[in-house]
Amino acid sequence: MKSLERLLKDEAATIEFGEDLALALKAGECVALSGDLGAGKSTFARAFIRAMADDETLEVPSPTFTLVQSYDLRIPVAHFDLYRLADASELDELGFDEALADGICLVEWPEKAEEALPADRITLTFSHEDDGRRIHLTAPDAAFERITRSLAI
Ligand code: ADP
Ligand code: MG
Repeated sequence: MKSLERLLKDEAATIEFGEDLALALKAGECVALSGDLGAGKSTFARAFIRAMADDETLEVPSPTFTLVQSYDLRIPVAHFDLYRLADASELDELGFDEALADGICLVEWPEKAEEALPADRITLTFSHEDDGRRIHLTAPDAAFERITRSLAI
């Protein structure tokens, strides 16, 4: 595992970060999005999905109530919000394994199913810093290489 930190000074920086990651990731990878309410997890997920769709206006509803929203894109993306998950075993019923076999899983509130998520997941932790957000990213070496290359372009 390797990690990096970035200061994202405004919402546009979070969006650009999401777009860069969409270019870097592959099917079979899971991104856990951690951070308090309002930290930028959904902003990141929306930008990631819109970039993968190559459609800046694509509706990306919050999966707060459905727990998962799936997108059939260049690489399929499943956007999970586990805040209302009662138990980690419910992740199965949401089709997590199938979604990961086919594509990329973005997971808000991963703490709700920590032990059911792949150990080799990419972790993004958002925190408030002044008017912006600090992001801490941890990823397996191969994914980290692709991510740093994509961020540098
Ligand atoms: P979460 O899903 O973590 O609860 P949201 O993505 O809904 O958070 O973001 C909450 C607010 O934070 C939004 O109004 C968004 O515009 C803003 N925001 C996102 N990224 C940044 C940033 N880097 N700096 C300042 N504000 C940001
Ligand atoms: Mg959210």
